[in-house]
Amino acid sequence: MTTIAFIGLGNMGGPMAANLLKAGYALQVFDLSAAAVETAVAAGAHAAATASAAVTGAQIVISMLPASRHVEGLYLGDAGILAAIEPGALVIDCSTIAPASAQKVAAVAAQRGVVMIDAPVSGGTAGAAAGSLTFIVGGDADALERARPILQAMGKNIFHVGANGAGQVAKLCNNMALGVIMAVTGEALALGVAHGLDPKVLSQMMAVSTSRSWATEVCNPWPGVLENAPASRGYSGGFGNDLMLKDLGLAAEAAMGVGASIPLGELARNLYAMNSRAGHGGLDFSSVVKLVAPAA
Ligand code: NAD
Repeated sequence: MTTIAFIGLGNMGGPMAANLLKAGYALQVFDLSAAAVETAVAAGAHAAATASAAVTGAQIVISMLPASRHVEGLYLGDAGILAAIEPGALVIDCSTIAPASAQKVAAVAAQRGVVMIDAPVSGGTAGAAAGSLTFIVGGDADALERARPILQAMGKNIFHVGANGAGQVAKLCNNMALGVIMAVTGEALALGVAHGLDPKVLSQMMAVSTSRSWATEVCNPWPGVLENAPASRGYSGGFGNDLMLKDLGLAAEAAMGVGASIPLGELARNLYAMNSRAGHGGLDFSSVVKLVAPAA
């Protein structure tokens, strides 16, 4: 039986790990949060005392951590887990991090006989729970084929977009567009509500019209419009404002690297930074609507 080490059991990693357990894989898990580990153990995972212990004896290692510094800290350096990963094992990093960081970790892994792919995801916490994520993969094609059955247990769509780091570039393109779309959807709903419109009816109309998007249909930013959206539970869970802010910062860096212009992406980055400074950094990113509708 394939043994998978799964490190990072947060809003995304927790339900992803649960789907691997449902598919019959043996999981050795580690997270800094004891509560997150407990949930995975209740679903059938084996808790490891350290990240290095989790990867010992595993043929596949999956990480789902917040940002570049966490991923580099986990794998690299004297305390890094690369030393404990079996040569020949495959590492799948699903975190959204800087493309350069993904390339750096993959290069060090390769020196140790460990193949690594970047496989950031799209689909949010609902997609993670439903096993319908989109995986955006950068790395060797043979490594992706090895990873494919495992990714299929957690997602529906798999795109191979290029070499190591390319998965991260594509993911940043997606999230930059998402950040802009969410902010402007909130503005549109606030404008309608200020004119006395019902946000539910307005959203239903938009969801079948030309401004249709994931922000209108799945993660609507207006409280009460969609029962299962973070906005309807005080913007808890979901995709944190500060994670979106991180991704827009990475997009800005990526743009500077090639001299690309991203005026709306930069504007959106400032909006999510303002929302963070307003004390909403830990809320779902759809709380950016609060900047234009404080009562939302
Ligand atoms: P999260 O903050 O809910 O979870 C991160 C988990 O990593 C936490 O449980 C934390 O304790 C753990 N962690 C941090 N450092 C660790 C370490 N050194 N060792 C072990 N565990 C460690 O974040 P999330 O929402 O699950 O997001 C994870 C990644 O997925 C991010 O890069 C994010 O940008 C990306 N992402 C999130 C969503 C979403 O909707 N939440 C969607 C797509 C992509």
